Amino acid sequence: MKKLSVIGSTGSIGTQALQVVEERGYQVVGLAAGKNDALLEEQILRFHPICAALFDENAAQSLRRRLQGKCDTEILSGKDGVCKVASLDSADTVLNAALGIAGLAPTVAAIKAGKPLALANKESLVCAGDLVNALAKQYGVPILPVDSEHNAIFQCLQAGKADAVERILLTASGGPFFGKKADEIANMGAEQALKHPSWSMGAKITVDSATMMNKGFEMIEAMHLFHVRPEQIEVVVHRESIVHSMVEFCDGSVIAQMSPPDMRLPIQHAIDYPQRFPSQRKRLDLTALGKLTFFKPDEVTFPAMRLCREAMERGGNLGAAINGANEVAVAAFLRGEIPFGKITPIVECAARRVPFVQHPTFEDIYETDRLARASVRLDEEVL
Ligand code: NDP
Repeated sequence: MKKLSVIGSTGSIGTQALQVVEERGYQVVGLAAGKNDALLEEQILRFHPICAALFDENAAQSLRRRLQGKCDTEILSGKDGVCKVASLDSADTVLNAALGIAGLAPTVAAIKAGKPLALANKESLVCAGDLVNALAKQYGVPILPVDSEHNAIFQCLQAGKADAVERILLTASGGPFFGKKADEIANMGAEQALKHPSWSMGAKITVDSATMMNKGFEMIEAMHLFHVRPEQIEVVVHRESIVHSMVEFCDGSVIAQMSPPDMRLPIQHAIDYPQRFPSQRKRLDLTALGKLTFFKPDEVTFPAMRLCREAMERGGNLGAAINGANEVAVAAFLRGEIPFGKITPIVECAARRVPFVQHPTFEDIYETDRLARASVRLDEEVL
């Protein structure tokens, strides 16, 4: 029976991962989250992990009090507690579904503990892809992509050798504002941006899908996961979210991975790889769908993709600067403090204020994140 630690267990991916755990009969040895003590408490009482952690000290304290005498789970707190859950001896695999740069520390902890890493936290690679790759190589740890597109690419890549790969065709749903122009969406608020056409996800990644920053981050993620050059990655808008991505080989063959959109499929694949097991997921009915459509992305209306392409080409700490500024700007948007059209321009201005470092260390990445957050000006004249 697989033994898992799940980081970010209270979130959208984390809760779906626990559904897969129940369906597949895996054992949960560790759980970690940010501050949702009520849901973590339910999860602890259901899965009886050896240890659990909340990043927030007060929430952990209150959870510890409530669970006293009710279970043997050790309750930890803070960044160290989360990292301990990510490096438990008894875990076979760590699934990291924490949100934002907060996921970088558990990624590093899992790799240093030699644990295969099922990675949903794309920000680990957006902020520190070269460093994470070097560490994974040093410790001989595989990184198994959970993000649906990257999981699809990972599956497609098995059809040929790495040096025969010509292009990666990364599909994008286009988000709720696909087909609209900049002036139509400039003043949109959170309610409209949170209406994703095909996926139900956490609020932050749903907004990132609307700005296409998520697709920009996924291009960076793909470059690091699959060791390809920026120009080998092409984004194709595919509204139906059935083709999760494709790989073109040098002979012109294009291999696609398809399924109805459901994150539990890539989660299960990443945990079980290299094996496959039956699942309860809905099956694809192509004749019911009738047709699948593909479009070019609109990088003028959605400039986040252009910004992320620059981060791929320049490397260094630019990805971390964009991510840090984006976390702050998206949070401000969700609080109703800035309109939709200001998110990406504010992020770009803030990221450009951070000094560029070509070969950053992990310390430089955290300093970049701090500087980028501090550089965000919500009243920036950008429209
Ligand atoms: P959610 O906002 O739904 O959940 C985020 C999780 O991270 C919560 O469990 C949260 O805990 C936890 N968390 C926050 N801060 C910390 C911390 N310091 N230490 C440990 N855990 C923390 O996000 P999603 O599930 O949507 O996304 C998670 C990751 O997966 C992101 O990187 C996203 O890009 C990626 N992803 C998500 C997809 C999706 O379908 N949702 C698809 C592909 C990738 P708490 O609730 O207690 O605050």
